[in-house]
Amino acid sequence: MMDFGLTEEQRAILDSIDRMMAAHLPPERAQAYDALGECPPDLLRHFGELGLLAIPFPARFGGLDGDWGTVTLVQERLGYHAAIAASLYSITVDFGGMSLLAYGSPAQQDALLPPLIRGEAQFSLALSEPGAGTDAAALITRAERTATGWRINGRKTWISAADTAAFLVTVCRTERGSTGRAGISILLVPPDSKGIHMTRLHKLGNNSLTSWDIAFDDVEVPGDALMGEEGNGFRHVMSTLQYSRSGQAANAVGQAQAAVDIALDHARERIQFGKPLTQFQVLRHRLVDMQNRVDQARLILYRLAWLMTTGQPCRREAAQAKVLASETLAAVAAEGMQILASTGYASESRMNRILRDSRLYLFGEGANDMLRDQMAREMGIAER
Ligand SMILES: Cc1cc2nc3c(=O)[nH]c(=O)nc-3n(C[C@H](O)[C@H](O)[C@H](O)COP(=O)(O)OP(=O)(O)OC[C@H]3O[C@@H](n4cnc5c(N)ncnc54)[C@H](O)[C@@H]3O)c2cc1C
Repeated sequence: MMDFGLTEEQRAILDSIDRMMAAHLPPERAQAYDALGECPPDLLRHFGELGLLAIPFPARFGGLDGDWGTVTLVQERLGYHAAIAASLYSITVDFGGMSLLAYGSPAQQDALLPPLIRGEAQFSLALSEPGAGTDAAALITRAERTATGWRINGRKTWISAADTAAFLVTVCRTERGSTGRAGISILLVPPDSKGIHMTRLHKLGNNSLTSWDIAFDDVEVPGDALMGEEGNGFRHVMSTLQYSRSGQAANAVGQAQAAVDIALDHARERIQFGKPLTQFQVLRHRLVDMQNRVDQARLILYRLAWLMTTGQPCRREAAQAKVLASETLAAVAAEGMQILASTGYASESRMNRILRDSRLYLFGEGANDMLRDQMAREMGIAER
C-alpha cells in the first residue's frame, strides 16, 4: 500500500545534486556568500544544466513531465546543502514556473517557461506591502489602464531576489474602489522599468536571498503584461500556494536534517571530562529527539508530495507540512546550537546560520498562527 523507496532515477538525481553542490557551493563557500550578503552566481544555471528545473513541467516547454515527489526530494536535498539553493529553486519552480503553468497565457508560457527551465530566468513575487503582510488582501498598490497598457503606483516590500528577476510578478489593485480580495490583478513588470526604485533590506538571516523594498512611481507596462484574468489576481496567487508551501517545508526539513548531522558529528568528536559528548546520556537523548522530530516532519512532507502527485486536495496538508517543518527546524536548530555551544556560536559555523535562517520559515509563506486558523476552518472548528 505504501512505498517510501526511491527510484533509480531519483537516486541518480540526488547524487548529481550532491556532486554539483560540492563543486559549486560547498559549505564554506555558502557561508562566505551569506556573510557577504550575496547570492551565489550561476546557481540557477547549474540547476538548469542538471535538468532540476525541468522536472514538473510539460515536455512541450522543455520539461520532464515529472512528479511532485521528485521535486520535493530535490528541494529537501538542496536545503540540506544550503538554504539559498532550495530558496532559489523554490522561487523559480514552485512560484514562477507553477504560476505560469496555472494562469499564464499561452503566449506567456511559450515565451517564459523554456528560459525558466534552462535556468536563465527567475521571477519574484511582489505581493507584500508595508500595510499588507499576513493580510495580503489589504494591498493598495494601484494599476490603472492607459492607452497602451497599465500605469502602476505604490510600494512593495520584502521582495526576494528582485534584483535578479526577469519579471516582478506584481499584484495590484486594478478596480477602482475595490477592497479585500476583489478587483486585484497580476502584472509582469521588468525590474529595470522606468519609475522603479529598489532599496536593499538588511536582515537577521537568509542573507544570500536578497530582499528589497520597491517603490513604483508611474511605472508603465504594456497590455500583455497582464497575467491571468483581470480582477481575479488574488485568487490566482492563492491557487498555487501549495507549491511554495511544500517547497518551504522541504527546504526546512533538509536544513533540519543538516542541523542534526552537524550536531551528531560534533558530539562524536568533542571530548569533555575525558569522553565524547555522545557518552552523556542527556545529549544522546537530545540527539534522538531531534532526529525523531525531523523524521515526523519528513513523513508529513512526503504525504503532501504524494497528495500533490496524485492530484488530490491538499490545502490543509500543505499548511500542516509548512507549520510542522518550520517549527521542527527552529527547534532542532536551537537544540543543535546548545550541543555545539561556543563552536556553534562562532560566525563561521553553519549551525549559527541555520539558527538565524530558521526564523523566516515560521512566518514566510503564511504565518504559522494564521495557518493554524486555516487548518481549524478545514477541521470545521472555526468560522470560514
Ligand atoms: C526574508 C523575507 C523574504 C520575503 N519574501 C517575500 C517575497 O518574495 N514576496 C512577498 O510578497 N513577500 C515576501 N516577504 C514578506 C512575508 O510574506 C511577510 O513578512 C509575511 O506575510 C508576514 O507579514 P508581516 O511580516 O507584515 O507580519 P504581520 O502580518 O504584521 O504579522 C505579525 C505577527 O502577527 C501574526 N498574525 C497576523 N495576522 C494574524 C492572524 N490573522 N491570526 C493569527 N496571527 C496573525 C503573525 O503570525 C505574526 O506573528 C518576505 C519576508 C521576509 C522577512
